[in-house]
Amino acid sequence: MAQTTPSTATSPQADAAQQAPGFYRYKVGDFEVTAVNDGFARRPLEGFVRNAELAQVQQAMQEAFLPGDALPITFTTLVLRRNGGGLTLIDTGNGDMGAPTSGHWMKNFRAAGFDPSQVETVVISHFHGDHINGLRLKDGTAVFPKAQVMVPAAEWAFWMDDARMNQAPEAMKGAFQGVRRVFGPIANDVKRYEADKEVVPGLTAIAAPGHTPGHTAYMLSSGSGKLMVMSDITNHPALFVRNPDWAAVFDMDADQARATRHKMLDMAATERAQVAFYHAPFPATGHIAKDGNRYRFVPVQWSPAV
Ligand SMILES: [Zn+2]
Repeated sequence: MAQTTPSTATSPQADAAQQAPGFYRYKVGDFEVTAVNDGFARRPLEGFVRNAELAQVQQAMQEAFLPGDALPITFTTLVLRRNGGGLTLIDTGNGDMGAPTSGHWMKNFRAAGFDPSQVETVVISHFHGDHINGLRLKDGTAVFPKAQVMVPAAEWAFWMDDARMNQAPEAMKGAFQGVRRVFGPIANDVKRYEADKEVVPGLTAIAAPGHTPGHTAYMLSSGSGKLMVMSDITNHPALFVRNPDWAAVFDMDADQARATRHKMLDMAATERAQVAFYHAPFPATGHIAKDGNRYRFVPVQWSPAV
């Protein structure tokens, strides 16, 4: 009998072109935190920082050994689990709506040993597409059908206001429509949370407005373990932790975002707290060091043990 080669066989070269799955676990007290990567998108540098010359931005990129034409913006969500219980997600990635170099979240989530049916709670930091689109596929399917979805009350009030959507500039209408695409079918079930309150046990919301009106950061605490979840206080740390006065085009109220950024970075540096950023290089966690009027992001040392 003739032997056949299975058509699904992959060559060693193809395997060599793949990274190991993008998840990374660490402990915060009793919490097992799993950072799950959703790939990246390239953003041209031209016009990206509102209040800096392109040459200054290119200089900051060069100092961080990053490309001179476009910024690779990565996406990293967090999965929280305590004592083997159900899962809480903080943000969901791009789903199937993002750049072709994104959309790796589900593969990485499953590779970490998780299944969407285990997700009990999805906590959303703000309503930009790269944070919410993972909740619902393009075809309308709910990705975590059993989960309680929790959103900042201030964010909901802003984006779900029809009058505000109708008055919005044409360029912003898509963002309002995207919010309705994701949350419309579950509008009556979405739970809205207030700042400075515990969202789920151990996770407290911190109002961090500016990037969006209801943009929220968090403090995760358990025993002596603490993690400041910074959400989009900064975009890439090489630009905005180094230059906290710079304003990314995505910051809806640049002055408010700047004040929030200074306050949160200063708090992280003073308390020597571990931080997690949504848009820092994977695994997107580390510490903040003061450096004159600026700051430095110091990534954690990779550990083989959780
Ligand atoms: Zn974002």
